Amino acid sequence: MRFSKSLIPTLKETPAEAEVVSHRLLLRAGFIRKLTAGIYTYLPLGLAAIRKVEQIVREEMTRAGAQELLMPMVQPADLWHETGRYKKYGPELLRFVDRHDRESCLGPTHEEVITDLARREIRSYRDLPMNLYQIQTKFRDEIRPRFGLMRGREFIMKDAYSFDVDDSTAEESYQCMYDAYKRIFTRCGLEYRPVEADSGTIGGSFSHEFMVLADTGEDTLVICSGCDYAANSEKAVVAAPGRDESPMLPLEKMETPGKRKVSAVCEFMGISPKELVKTMVYKAGEEAVAVLVRGDREVQEVKLKNFLGVVDVEMLDDKDVFAATGVPTGYLGPVGIKVKLLVDNEVAAMCNFVVGANEKNHHLKNVNMGRDFEPFGVADLRQITVDDPCPVCGGVLTMKEGIEVGHVFKLGTGYSKAMNAVFQDSDGQDKPMVMGCYGIGVSRIVAAAIEQNHDENGMIFPMPLAPMQVIVLNLGLKNEQITGAAEALYRDLEEKGIDVLLDDRDERPGSKFKDADLLGIPLRLTVGKRLTQDGVIELRSRRDGKVEELAPQQVVARVR
Ligand code: ATP
Ligand code: MG
Ligand code: MG
Ligand code: MG
Repeated sequence: MRFSKSLIPTLKETPAEAEVVSHRLLLRAGFIRKLTAGIYTYLPLGLAAIRKVEQIVREEMTRAGAQELLMPMVQPADLWHETGRYKKYGPELLRFVDRHDRESCLGPTHEEVITDLARREIRSYRDLPMNLYQIQTKFRDEIRPRFGLMRGREFIMKDAYSFDVDDSTAEESYQCMYDAYKRIFTRCGLEYRPVEADSGTIGGSFSHEFMVLADTGEDTLVICSGCDYAANSEKAVVAAPGRDESPMLPLEKMETPGKRKVSAVCEFMGISPKELVKTMVYKAGEEAVAVLVRGDREVQEVKLKNFLGVVDVEMLDDKDVFAATGVPTGYLGPVGIKVKLLVDNEVAAMCNFVVGANEKNHHLKNVNMGRDFEPFGVADLRQITVDDPCPVCGGVLTMKEGIEVGHVFKLGTGYSKAMNAVFQDSDGQDKPMVMGCYGIGVSRIVAAAIEQNHDENGMIFPMPLAPMQVIVLNLGLKNEQITGAAEALYRDLEEKGIDVLLDDRDERPGSKFKDADLLGIPLRLTVGKRLTQDGVIELRSRRDGKVEELAPQQVVARVR
């Protein structure tokens, strides 16, 4: 690749909108450009880094026996109705209707589509186990897209799905993916930890997340210093309303709540009244406070930021709320606001929490949790903290921030039962397939790698993910000997299959050095005056700054 002919729009200034280092550097190094909130164009170098991740992922998926396919991004709502997730998934699912008035959505994940495929194509126990994966653009209408590639609305994911005859082989498939994930993240050159995780909206019996350790991570991990125990601190949280997984619908749908009793709402949602009434909110002075009700009587207060209130709410009888929660309602807290329930089925389906306000005027119209006021901070909801002993060995726990780059789930038969994905077993019986699903944030890995590998001058790519392995600086465009040597090096390295960028721009050496550092290319070859004076080319390692002097004919062998 020639710098002079490539689209690598590096920036001198730090873009104001970027809060974390990977976002700043991806913009400054000309790897990505924003189209609109959470949606980016990958420029040539950004795409090259993504391709490196994809390559590693593909090799390890193949090694683990998975086959690649590619599913559509547009999905019919009907499939999602079959599993009940069309209602449950919440506003992260971008829904729309086509010209024939058919409801559709953009795939945030593909359990429904793959299960539909499996029920059509997999007939017999002889076809199993089967593991299918794709690398594809996903769309999730994230509440707060931010941090560049770390939390986009459109992003690239590898998602794999396994199908097995029974639980024990499903666990083998899970383990096989778990091991493949370890190889993938090791090969990417990342410092990571597998942790026990909550299985979120996808549901399922158990799951692990793969976390890249970095201060800017949005997840908090508890890690035992005495044993292998490591978990996402969210894992043990019973109720976490307002988290991105929390079911909510677009606010337009909230305008006409009907009048339903708690029992009808619960029936509709398939949950118990206790689960429905997880949270009550009241106002204490200037600050709103949420009361979480867990199980029978465990009550915990958390503070809410900028609480505004809620849409039209229907009040329930105190008696009903009390019956549902075992918690006295009516006048709560120092200010004493009556607890109000959302009882329309759609409203209830999107908010499995209960909110209240002291006034029901225009301020409270169309208020949507998450969009209009901060959802509950997960930090406030942690069940395991460093004050607790390790649940495995009783040792001391520490906390670390992590970036979730991968997630493996053992799903069980939830999807296959809901969608009737059955196979004929060796005994002639039809049985639901036992499933697992496994995601990797391909584009997020690039951001995570930068969070872990950078300095004040720019990125420092681990070699396996580096979009270019070598940059050759031609510091004497007008000097025949220098240009001849730089061009020859460029050609020779390319011929050897090395990804090389030739900086042949008409720029001052200072800005070429700066850009080379910014781009984070692991090896820099400087062809300049030292060549004409002493016959040497300088090879510098981006990571440790070590410089070696080489004769031109030594370079290719040294770099390979
Ligand atoms: P998060 O907790 O960060 O919202 P998630 O648990 O919702 O992620 P999964 O459903 O487990 O995500 O998806 C699999 C992988 O896809 C995640 O482990 C993560 O690496 C990646 N991913 C999820 N959401 C995003 C996003 N908005 N932008 C970039 N990558 C993402
Ligand atoms: Mg999410
Ligand atoms: Mg998560
Ligand atoms: Mg996850």
